[in-house]
Amino acid sequence: MSKMNANFLNLKENYLFREISRNVNEYTSSHPDNKLIRMGIGDVTRPLAPIVVEAMEKAAAEMGRQETFRGYEDSGQGYDFLRNAVKGYYAKRGVTLDAEEIFISDGAKSDSGNINDIFSEENTVLVTDPAYPVYVDSNTMGGKKILYADSTPENGFAAMPPECPADLIYLCSPNNPTGSVYTKEQLKEWVAYAQKNKAVIIFDAAYEAFITDPALPHSIFEIEGARSCAIEICSLSKTAGFTGTRCGYTVIPSELTFYAPDGAEHSVRKIWARRQGSKFNGVSYPIQRAAEAVFTDEGLAQCREIISFYLENAAIMAETFKKLGISYTGGSSSPYIWFRCPDGMDSWDFFHKLLNEAEVVGTPGSGFGKNGEGWFRMTAFGTRENTVEAMKRLEKMLSK
Ligand code: PLP
Repeated sequence: MSKMNANFLNLKENYLFREISRNVNEYTSSHPDNKLIRMGIGDVTRPLAPIVVEAMEKAAAEMGRQETFRGYEDSGQGYDFLRNAVKGYYAKRGVTLDAEEIFISDGAKSDSGNINDIFSEENTVLVTDPAYPVYVDSNTMGGKKILYADSTPENGFAAMPPECPADLIYLCSPNNPTGSVYTKEQLKEWVAYAQKNKAVIIFDAAYEAFITDPALPHSIFEIEGARSCAIEICSLSKTAGFTGTRCGYTVIPSELTFYAPDGAEHSVRKIWARRQGSKFNGVSYPIQRAAEAVFTDEGLAQCREIISFYLENAAIMAETFKKLGISYTGGSSSPYIWFRCPDGMDSWDFFHKLLNEAEVVGTPGSGFGKNGEGWFRMTAFGTRENTVEAMKRLEKMLSK
């Protein structure tokens, strides 16, 4: 008789996006001619940068010629050309990495979930609340005990270290869903907390390319001491529109260690390489060439132009919330705006009101954790026209 991994029974129903779709489908089938504006999903809408497409096409053509065809990649850790490109990207910010420490992946979601394979279920995991749901789900599947650090209006939705200890800490900055960004000072406190507890920080930097304030850190490795207590997971999804193309990278410094049951210290990087060697066979060659193009000067400039477009949408949204006197976080250095539901409404009541009265779709904050109740997320990944129109509709709805 085959037995299931019973930890899966502890997962909460994937209620949030299913329930949003159900409501949206119901609304569109009863109002087929009305124009609904969707600002709920964190997916990009602009096409890939031209230089990225060129690189992908060129690499696809290479795969069709005998002399340049490539099969399995030797290491599965990523081609040298891409790992060196990522290394160069970090170097621009003064962070020195060895190419061996960079693992090319098919995205940040897979790695932020899979990384918990190599950590014992005896670890206590600390997740900020509200949070990107993958951290809680993957650690629940792994049978680990989860504690929460509260992100609240009082701390600007940027949770700080608690009194209690933890072994594995998930941080996300710029944050999904709240759009808050940790300062260097705040990350220093998290690094000190991790060092005190001999813990590992898993730092999700999927939105780092949205940071515009030069004082804000893009990488945890900009903080002294982080190399011995942190893993960084990043993605080209939001940096360069790779949500449908799939490519990301994970950085595990050589100094980072963890402990076997007998107390022996082991290299996290080596164990992750061993895990990937057995369970992952690399990212396709054309996609790695496309990713390499992102990190060229021209690629970065083309991607920055697309990000600036989204950031202008975010600024338009932030301006509206300011004008309406509604508290919010995000809206700059992030594609998300996280705002308090007006008139003390709860997240789902506001979702229904916005859908039915303004025909705008957003994401109820309560779906990201208990501290999200009464808050709401909107994304800047839409067209300019829809962003402006959605803000007009919101203003009209709230002035009634
Ligand atoms: N991390 C965060 C915080 C995200 O919000 C997302 C996607 O929305 C991801 C990771 C997933 O990234 P990828 O597309 O690289 O899997």
